[in-house]
Amino acid sequence: MENVVIYLALILTGLCLGSFAGAMVWRLRARQLSEDKAHHEEYDKDEYQRLKKLTTGGAAHDRSRCLHCSYVLRWYDLIPLVSWLSLRGKCRQCHIPIGYLEPLIELGVALLFVLSFAFWPYPLETPLAITQFIIWLVAGVGLAILFSYDTKWFLLPDRVNFVVIGLGVLSVAIVILRSADRLNALLSVVGAAVILSGLYLVLYLISRGKWIGFGDVKLGLGLALLLADWRLAFVALFAANLIGCLIVIPAMISGRLKRDSHVPFGPLLILGFVIAQFAGIYLIETYLGVAL
Ligand SMILES: [Zn+2]
Repeated sequence: MENVVIYLALILTGLCLGSFAGAMVWRLRARQLSEDKAHHEEYDKDEYQRLKKLTTGGAAHDRSRCLHCSYVLRWYDLIPLVSWLSLRGKCRQCHIPIGYLEPLIELGVALLFVLSFAFWPYPLETPLAITQFIIWLVAGVGLAILFSYDTKWFLLPDRVNFVVIGLGVLSVAIVILRSADRLNALLSVVGAAVILSGLYLVLYLISRGKWIGFGDVKLGLGLALLLADWRLAFVALFAANLIGCLIVIPAMISGRLKRDSHVPFGPLLILGFVIAQFAGIYLIETYLGVAL
């Protein structure tokens, strides 16, 4: 019974925070476009005009609006999932489709929260352990934003990356506090950072940013800190590359993806990271036979 209450709470919180994440994705994009414009960089003028209204009015009055007709969303338009389903994915006023980002990110975060509780590999007994779990959930919201943003626009916004890194630092502090062998725990964190971030840094430097962006290096650091274990970092990297191959190779064969197409690496890395967190210890014990 207690678990049912926890799961319900996680689903509802996940849907609401997913809704927040969806709104953040558009606001970050609007900000990005106006910054690009201010710095006289290339930017999509139509998109800028459409999203501009999200940045005007100041943060305090920043209510979500329809990106097409500027209709200010009422409270009943902002109920996660329910509003989207009842409107069949269209704006209440202009009936132009809203798109699938909102319901997917809401469902995604709710699902992540449920899976996190179901597959959390450590006992949630002490206040520190529970704090670490909550840090993980909050970081998950940031990662949902990064995942969506990178999938749509091939970019990982710095602001969100830095929040994830900050949460990673907090999480590492807890891991080290709780560890019996603190030096070893710290070395494992450093190892994770080398595997998930250092490797990308080298690739970034060699290719001068052509193969991967510096955003991936920062994302890798955040993920490494959250995993705080070099073996899990290795599983994450392996899983990310495997998923990448499974997506890229069929897409190349079918011709949907050209040789020089850009594949966002952030979402793959995040998927690999989630797999490593939930199944990493199991995978290491079962398949690699490495003693924990
Ligand atoms: Zn509209």
